[in-house]
Amino acid sequence: MESSILPAVIRLRASANSFLSQFEPLVLVVAPLVSFLVAQIVQSLIQVVHEKGLKATLIVCFMTCVKLVPGVKRYIDAEKQKVVDKLQSSGKSKRDGWRTELPSTGLGSGVLEQMKNEKQKDAAWQGKCSGTVYIGGNESEGHFSLINEACSMFAHTNPLHLDVFKSVVRFEAEVVGMTAALLGSKEKACGGQICGNMTSGGTESILLAVKSSRDYMKAKKNITCPEMIIPESAHSAYDKAAQYFKIKLWRVPVNKEFQADAKAIKKYINKNTVLIVGSAPGFPHGVIDPIEELGELASSYGICLHVDLCLGGFVLPFARKLGYPIPPFDFSVQGVTSISADVHKYGLAPKGTSIVLYRNHEIRKHQFVAVTEWSGGLYVSPTIAGSRPGSLIAGAWAAMLSLGQEGYLEHTREIMEASKRLQKGVKEIPELFIIGRPDMTIVAFGSIVIDIFEVNDILSSKGWHLNPLQRPNSIHICVTLQHVPIVDDFLKDLKDSVQTVKENPGPVSGGLAPIYGAAGKIPDRGMVNELLVDYMDNAC
Ligand SMILES: *Cc1c(COP(=O)(O)O)cnc(C)c1O
Repeated sequence: MESSILPAVIRLRASANSFLSQFEPLVLVVAPLVSFLVAQIVQSLIQVVHEKGLKATLIVCFMTCVKLVPGVKRYIDAEKQKVVDKLQSSGKSKRDGWRTELPSTGLGSGVLEQMKNEKQKDAAWQGKCSGTVYIGGNESEGHFSLINEACSMFAHTNPLHLDVFKSVVRFEAEVVGMTAALLGSKEKACGGQICGNMTSGGTESILLAVKSSRDYMKAKKNITCPEMIIPESAHSAYDKAAQYFKIKLWRVPVNKEFQADAKAIKKYINKNTVLIVGSAPGFPHGVIDPIEELGELASSYGICLHVDLCLGGFVLPFARKLGYPIPPFDFSVQGVTSISADVHKYGLAPKGTSIVLYRNHEIRKHQFVAVTEWSGGLYVSPTIAGSRPGSLIAGAWAAMLSLGQEGYLEHTREIMEASKRLQKGVKEIPELFIIGRPDMTIVAFGSIVIDIFEVNDILSSKGWHLNPLQRPNSIHICVTLQHVPIVDDFLKDLKDSVQTVKENPGPVSGGLAPIYGAAGKIPDRGMVNELLVDYMDNAC
């Protein structure tokens, strides 16, 4: 074989050389360089097609070419700015009179008066916001002031100094322990190994769980190019984690019930997979993913499974006790390696409090950062922040202990009943359909006959703040104690809004429906991404 090919190759080389020798020596240097570059481009193009799909790649190529046409880029940028300005209801122009430097003489306690004035300008958040503030109901004044007092009592503490602030160190351990006990830590099979920390919110809990899973899998299986697989409904915090921690992210469509599709997820598992994810429930539609199925998958491949209980952590354990049919969702499921649960949502604690939990200490150790070579001394810190607000830990501790199991049970009963009433009311509006089967207190709905975002604009004009969703276009309300007394008001406003849109379809002046509608249809997701970044850049 070789002997017959070799002379041919030599002959080919020779003729190529004599051909090339006609050119300047410079070309001889440039030619291999160009072919190397072309090969690189082709290779990365193949990679992009593999990751994003052919359609998305073609769109990116097309848009890149279009923008090269003189004037087109400027036109697109101007149009983009118009959208950003529209999204930006409190644009830069609204900043007239805002301070840009310190007053030369301090205002003393006069600042408090100014702050009261500013507070008046906030939207009315007591009552009509989806999620947002979870404390509410008859005794809410008492709960708000209890938390305020607890926080102010510990406003100057910092658990970074373990030896100084023994109080908040104990509070944190107890908040974590009490939360773990709600989520399966007392079960024999868990072996008393479940451990965790308090964080600043659901996002930080998820970031840490992803980081720990990545490093645990590196230690255990030597995975150096980590990948993770999440259902389309999983929170955006996993995108943040993937970007921060250099993990390749696969986002997999959900099944017909809007749950994580374990079979589809399985297809993406490979030797680099470190983590799969389920939510109980997911933020968009309030549907619990099949955690047991995901647990089996994770166990059989020896990879991590994070369950996002940011919304469900302080509801599902109680809803189950009340007799609602709640499928398994916590550490009692084999294969679950970590859990996030937000105390600052249904835990009715102050904002800035969440819990991340691990099945055992071996996994959690990968969350910590220890530094031995710093002239500032030996250093070790458990979470992302260095110094941490002891006040919030104290606030969470106060919230949990003041309510106790009976308090949470009673609140869960109220919000579950309100959600069922609300679901029933939405079902009775023939133009609307509910997305999936809500397991808890989040109700998402859309329409095939009217523009649901126009309905949302009208609801907004009536003082409601709901969350717009996509795939499919819909809106949701996350029912809290604030809504318990006003479910009927909501249903009436919803019915009226639907009727208005039905009679008068078309954009509401000043509404955002056209933008949400268009943003869903723009095939160039890179452009939508740029829009969002410009919006944020204008907003803060
Ligand atoms: C709210 C939420 C998060 C993120 O929590 P933040 O506290 O906003 O950082 C993550 N997952 C789910 C399901 C949530 O509802």
